[in-house]
Amino acid sequence: MKKKLLCFPLLLILALLSACGDEPERVQIIAMDTVMTFQTYGKAAEDALVDASAEVRRLDALLSRTDPESAVSRVNSAGGAPVEAGAELSELLETAAEYSRMSGGAFDITLAPVSSAWGFTTDSYRVPSQAELDALLAHVGMEHVHVSGDTVTLDGGTQIDLGAIAKGYAADRVLDLYREAGLERGWAALGGNVAALGCRPDGEPWEIGIQDPNRPDDGNAYAGLLYLEDACAVTSGSYQRYFEQDGRRYHHILDPATGAPADSGLLSVTVVADAEAGSGAMCDALSTALFVMGEEKALDFRRESGLDFELVLVTEDGRVVATAGLEGRFAPAEGSGYAYETVS
Ligand code: AMP
Ligand code: MG
Repeated sequence: MKKKLLCFPLLLILALLSACGDEPERVQIIAMDTVMTFQTYGKAAEDALVDASAEVRRLDALLSRTDPESAVSRVNSAGGAPVEAGAELSELLETAAEYSRMSGGAFDITLAPVSSAWGFTTDSYRVPSQAELDALLAHVGMEHVHVSGDTVTLDGGTQIDLGAIAKGYAADRVLDLYREAGLERGWAALGGNVAALGCRPDGEPWEIGIQDPNRPDDGNAYAGLLYLEDACAVTSGSYQRYFEQDGRRYHHILDPATGAPADSGLLSVTVVADAEAGSGAMCDALSTALFVMGEEKALDFRRESGLDFELVLVTEDGRVVATAGLEGRFAPAEGSGYAYETVS
C-alpha cells in the first residue's frame, strides 16, 4: 500500500499507513505560537489527548514570553528583584543553564532582548546596529540568571526567552502523560519537535520527514526521512522564521557571540535521541545550539559531549550529513538533489 504523508505546516512530517487497523485519536491545537498535533491509540487515548492539550496550554501560560501573566514575564519584568517563580520554571532554568554551559554558550536563553531588537518577538522586523547589539550583549549570559530554590533573580537589563527549549520540554510531558495513561503508541508533533512513543500499529517505525530547508513552503519536500521508535527528533532551521531586507536574509537563531543571526554554513540541524526523561528538552536545546556552532563544531560536540544523540545536518553547500548511528533509521529523500554523507 502506498504510504501517505501527513503534512504539518512546520518542520517534521509524520507518516502513517493510510489503513493501519487500529484507529487513532488525534487532536490539533495552537499553542506556543505553533500548530501542535497529538495522536495516540487505545481505550485511554481520548482522555490522554485532553490531558496532553491541557498540559501544553498550562506550560504555554507558564513559559510564554509574550503573555504578561506568565511566570517568565513576571521574572522578566521584575527589574532585578527576586521572583517566586515556582519549582518547575526554576528547574527548567537549571536545565537551560546546563545546556548553555555544555555548548560553550551557543545555547543562551538570555538572548531575549537581542531577539526583540531584531523584531522577532513582535514581527516588526529591523536590522539593529552593531553598537545597539553590543549594548544588549552586555546583559547576555547565564551568569546574569540567579536561581535559588524556587526563586529567580535576573540582573538588571537581562531577560529570558525559553523558546528554544520549551516545546521540547512540553513534548517530554506529553509522552509522560501517554505512558501514565498506559498507552503503548502515539506521537506528539509540536512545531519542529516530534516525540514518538512505541511504533506504528503495524509494527513499523514512525516515518518522519525532515523538511527541505530550500523548499520551506512545500510540505512534501524533504531533505531526508527518519524511521523512529520511542524517539524524539527536533529540527532547528534558518528557514523557519526570517525576514529579508536589502536583499539579505535575517533569521531567528542568534549567535550569542555577535548578536546577529548565526552564519554557520548550516540550513538546518535535526537532533535525534531515544525518548527518555528529558530527551525532548535536550534535542530542542541542542538543535538550536548546534545550528549556531556549525558542522564541524557540532560533530565534535556530538562525539565529545557524552550525550547520546544523532544528527542530520543540511548545509548551505547542498549536503545532508547524517551520523552513522542513524544507520537503518535515516534514508535520503529521492530526487531532493542533495549529496548525502555519513559521518561518525
Ligand atoms: P529553536 O526553534 O528551538 O531553534 O529556537 C529558536 C528560538 O529561540 C528563537 O526564536 C529565539 O526566541 C530563541 N533563540 C535564538 N537564538 C538562540 C540561542 N542561540 N540560544 C537560545 N535561544 C535562542
Ligand atoms: Mg531548540
